[in-house]
Amino acid sequence: MPTSSFINGEFIGGDRNLAVENPATGAQIMTIAGADAATAGMKALDAASAAAASWAATTPRHRSDILRRAYELCLERADDLAVTMTMEMGKPLAEAYGEVNYGAEFLRWFSEEAVRSSGRFRPAPAAAGQNILVYSQPVGPTLLITPWNFPFSMGTRKIGPALAAGCTVVLKPANLTPLSSLLLMEILHEAGVPSGVVNCVVTEDSATLSSTLMDDPRLRKISFTGSTPVGRTLLSQASRNVLRTSMELGGNAPFLVLESADVDKTVTAVMAGKFRNNGEACTAANRIYVHRNIAEEFTAAFVDKVKALVLGNGLDEGTTLGPLIDQAAVQKCQDLVDDAVSKGAEVLLGGRALERAGHFFPATVLTNVPRVARVNKEEIFGPVAPIIVCETVDDMVEAANDTEFGLMAYVCGQDIDQVRDVVGRIESGMVAVNVGVASDPAAPFGGVKQSGIGREGSHEGLDEYLELKYVRIG
Ligand code: NAD
Repeated sequence: MPTSSFINGEFIGGDRNLAVENPATGAQIMTIAGADAATAGMKALDAASAAAASWAATTPRHRSDILRRAYELCLERADDLAVTMTMEMGKPLAEAYGEVNYGAEFLRWFSEEAVRSSGRFRPAPAAAGQNILVYSQPVGPTLLITPWNFPFSMGTRKIGPALAAGCTVVLKPANLTPLSSLLLMEILHEAGVPSGVVNCVVTEDSATLSSTLMDDPRLRKISFTGSTPVGRTLLSQASRNVLRTSMELGGNAPFLVLESADVDKTVTAVMAGKFRNNGEACTAANRIYVHRNIAEEFTAAFVDKVKALVLGNGLDEGTTLGPLIDQAAVQKCQDLVDDAVSKGAEVLLGGRALERAGHFFPATVLTNVPRVARVNKEEIFGPVAPIIVCETVDDMVEAANDTEFGLMAYVCGQDIDQVRDVVGRIESGMVAVNVGVASDPAAPFGGVKQSGIGREGSHEGLDEYLELKYVRIG
């Protein structure tokens, strides 16, 4: 297992000890030789800049073959990757295997997209004999910053398109979960990514790293996945050198259960949308709006399913809900529940943090949650499910849109005309209909409003790493 930053094809030492903890036990897994942010960051950018021209000059087919090999290596090392992810982040092992597949698919998808990048030709409409040519070119060296909740796939979702487009990379993984990214560095290196093309800096001082790199004119793009407040800071820093930016930020997904919903299918969808990844997903269903005429039946069936979740160490067989990432996350769930109860909500299940080693909060269902409760306004990032009963579809849509976020929304219903109408009125970058998980490497993932700028996955994911050059042929 590599234990330090990866720069210019080598794992380099570092003198800042950085402990990685297992959230299921509170015990230290290992110590990473963390780097001095400014020095290591600059070395990584030196390497990424030096490698930029030669990497951009490789053929798309060459880059595609390397990405394909990396995809295969990820699957070969699925056991290592999945166990590492569960140990550093806490998710149940079966879900960690799911993330290995999902993350690896971005490498396969972009190995295929690498050879599909195209330009345009058009005769100039009003200038006889003149032509308009449009080329796509790599943006250049990029800084990619990822969060802890999907430690592997948030890296591949950015590195896949960056490499496919011909860009070089400095990756800054979350310091709570650096191990999956370091395993990914090994894989990319073995797959044939040349030295300097992908670098990874592990540091506790993210702010210094990003600020130092963004002040350097050699850096041409920042792609960030994380919270909206940090995204805002980075956007303002990016303005100094007018960098290309992609921002995948926070969410506050509404889950609308229409009167026509099939209860069994809806409960299955809510379980996945709410409790997958321990509830720590930007797409997690945050607020469950249920039509009054179906509320009783839905709530009873939902509570039954939630009761069956097994809370525990993600490595233990049978665990379906893991620990939260740290004690602050547990405290936040507790505060949100207490606030909702003080404003009139009722706890149907759970509601109290567990007193045991590790960071455990039980699956919790709240009902009669008033609009003013904090749980409706803030990202929960935990296994707390607030149910809000609504009288009309218009009330549901109005409440769903009453947020500064706009990443994911869920709608369940069998009345296709009504579903279509609601989908059209929801303010979000993505809508899942009658299903609880929508992320797919072949689909454009991203948000509107304060959930971000840009898309990851699909063809649009590649465009984020390409510049257009218009050439006039006289
Ligand atoms: P975070 O914003 O605290 O940190 C994200 C990354 O930014 C980490 O690597 C962190 O070390 C780094 N960072 C923190 N402060 C920084 C600074 N001042 N300058 C530069 N880098 C800094 O978020 P988190 O707690 O790691 O992740 C949870 C958040 O991420 C949630 O809000 C969630 O919704 C969001 N998220 C969004 C998506 C998406 O695709 N939209 C996906 C996953 C997570």
